[in-house]
Amino acid sequence: MKKKPFIVAIDGPAGSGKSTTAKLVAKELGVTFLDSGAMYRTVALAVLKSGEGFDDPDKILKILFSSKIDFKFEDSRLSILLNGEDVTDGIRVPAVNQVVPIVAAMPEIRRQMVPVQRKIGKKISIVAEGRDIGTVVFPKADLKIFLTASIDTRAQRRFLELKSKNHDIALEAIKKEIELRDLKDTQRKISPLIKAVDAIELDTSSLTIAEQVDFIVQKARERIS
Ligand code: C5P
Repeated sequence: MKKKPFIVAIDGPAGSGKSTTAKLVAKELGVTFLDSGAMYRTVALAVLKSGEGFDDPDKILKILFSSKIDFKFEDSRLSILLNGEDVTDGIRVPAVNQVVPIVAAMPEIRRQMVPVQRKIGKKISIVAEGRDIGTVVFPKADLKIFLTASIDTRAQRRFLELKSKNHDIALEAIKKEIELRDLKDTQRKISPLIKAVDAIELDTSSLTIAEQVDFIVQKARERIS
């Protein structure tokens, strides 16, 4: 008998380690990793590239509909192509960080993104990460994790990540950017960043990546066995 797909939802604020953790949890469980933030980031980058502003949802929808966005999974590495160009790193630059919450707060855009995410979760088992995965996209997920960490820890992690990619940005600027993005994501009307009532909160400030991955994998195995 074919097994029913299962869903692990990992939500949390910026820099809480969702992507790294979700990717490794997915690998450990042998399932697909869904990075929903990358979808909103790619739309934001497409708008930046078009030279249009961010005040008209209809124009942004037009850009979305005329763009070709592909997600490629190779050796558990996720690559994102925008109109054939690899933008995997290009969607994680400060210019995109600044504008992505504007795009993500538009109901018109979320109405396009959420069905795509749900369609994936209907067909295959996934570990999905974002802001509204456990609350809106998959309210019946088998396991919901709300990942947090202190603002200083999150800023420091981002700083090291950017430094490793040769981006020279001051720690204080990163901290401000994260705080501002969290504020926008938490205060928006549609699908705000909030812990689902049935989510397990995991503060990763003093955990290693291996520890947080092990914790989630163990919980997931308990739930899906
Ligand atoms: O997770 P990541 O930092 O890549 O997300 C980028 C942005 O995309 C978030 O700050 C948020 O504005 C938006 N987002 C969202 N809903 C999701 C995932 C991301 O609104 N499920």
